[in-house]
Amino acid sequence: MIRKFLRKVFSRKTPVSKSTAQLNTISNTRHGIRRNLINPCALKIATNLQQAGFSAYIVGGAVRDLLLGLTPKDFDVATNATPEEIHKLFRRSRIIGRRFRLVHVMCGAETIEVSTFRGSSPPDIEEDFVAIPLTDAHGRLLHDNVFGNQEEDAVRRDFTVNALFYDPVKEEILDYLNGFDDIKIKKLRIIGDPVQRYREDPVRLLRAVRLASKLGMQIDAQTAQPIGDLAPLLQNVPPSRLFDEMLKLLLSGHSLSCVVELRARGLHHGLLPMLDVILEQPSGERFITIALKNTDERIKQNKPVSPGFLFAILLWHEVLSNWSSQQASGEKPMPALFKAMDQVLSLQHKKLAIPRRFDAVIQEIWAMQPRFEARSGQKPFRLLSHPRFRASYDFMQLRCESGELSVELGEWWKAFLSAGNEEREKMLPKQTAGKKPRRRRSRKKPSSSSTVQPDNSGNPENI
Ligand code: ATP
Ligand code: MG
Repeated sequence: MIRKFLRKVFSRKTPVSKSTAQLNTISNTRHGIRRNLINPCALKIATNLQQAGFSAYIVGGAVRDLLLGLTPKDFDVATNATPEEIHKLFRRSRIIGRRFRLVHVMCGAETIEVSTFRGSSPPDIEEDFVAIPLTDAHGRLLHDNVFGNQEEDAVRRDFTVNALFYDPVKEEILDYLNGFDDIKIKKLRIIGDPVQRYREDPVRLLRAVRLASKLGMQIDAQTAQPIGDLAPLLQNVPPSRLFDEMLKLLLSGHSLSCVVELRARGLHHGLLPMLDVILEQPSGERFITIALKNTDERIKQNKPVSPGFLFAILLWHEVLSNWSSQQASGEKPMPALFKAMDQVLSLQHKKLAIPRRFDAVIQEIWAMQPRFEARSGQKPFRLLSHPRFRASYDFMQLRCESGELSVELGEWWKAFLSAGNEEREKMLPKQTAGKKPRRRRSRKKPSSSSTVQPDNSGNPENI
């Protein structure tokens, strides 16, 4: 009992919000969101919940994006119904999550996430006499699994612009934290005390940078001020969450400006070796810049981008430096490359939790690089028929563009790809006199009709 009381007294978060939150209702004529831009499934789910007597709203990023004239990535619904009540109402739904349970409601081929309003207070643990820490030593929240009311749900969110509720029936926006005004003036403002909120969840440091770039917003001065000082807190975040957030950042369509911002705010240390080391070397910086610009363009054109390809890029200069150390200590080139690849990847598994399912792609792209420099005999033909050729080829072209390889090599490969088979044979150096030309046997050369065309995309379709 005493322990419980002490915990309550000392660990309860400052009620940021409760004193400052004041509800503003914004009518359709002011916000101007057109219903036809809202995902029909999310609309239907929120409406059905309301018809069943609950309150239910479209929340978070979707409302924000619609107000900014952007196309939302996903539509989330928040309600005062419990997960069981939601599940009961929608036949095609399932409760997911152990720590904080929410419901996935299936609608056609889509899935909409429906969550019960959450509060920010620590859980009230009745029975235990064992002290359960509510935050870690740095203030990171270890529990955020309490239900709350709508206002508490607004307050526990990260930025004011992310805390708007859209009522699809009344077509009104409910705004407890002046997020609507912040959207109008394009200010990204954290909810509550910035230091405390970053300490509770350091991933918000990265979200601030990502969302400001993506939304073209300015980070409010007080929200921005502690970012650099608190950057070391990221070391304390579980690697899998860091990976998810880094991936979101890299696939945001604004990866280049995000990476530049991360660096400017001192958030790059320890995130990825490329951010630590590469950006400080001119050749590495050029390679990353070209690659990320390429990735951003692909995303804007709705072309697929493979995370494996992206991580192969981000870690390449780490591999290069490890590779040359291995060779300097007497290892032969190829075994040295394989050792370097293994070492770089195993370090990243620990640090950033790059899932192992990407390893094969990453390794193949790297391992094929020396083969582009061997332009004799049948080697280029064999390379062409490799299933990962396209990705490795795009990667090699980025190396040429950044100055790591000669422009001539890149041009040669472009010409080789667009040539017919006869021309290709002519492009390869003649066999040395006295040496019998080796006949290629069963391996089939790609015919002219299956000729791989360079698309200069900097990213593969076939991963
Ligand atoms: P995106 O456009 O990338 O989807 P988003 O803001 O929708 O941006 P999500 O990760 O989809 O990001 O999160 C949905 C909502 O959940 C956010 O708008 C915000 O209200 C809340 N949220 C997400 N992450 C956090 C966090 N770390 N702390 C507090 N609230 C968060
Ligand atoms: Mg979202």
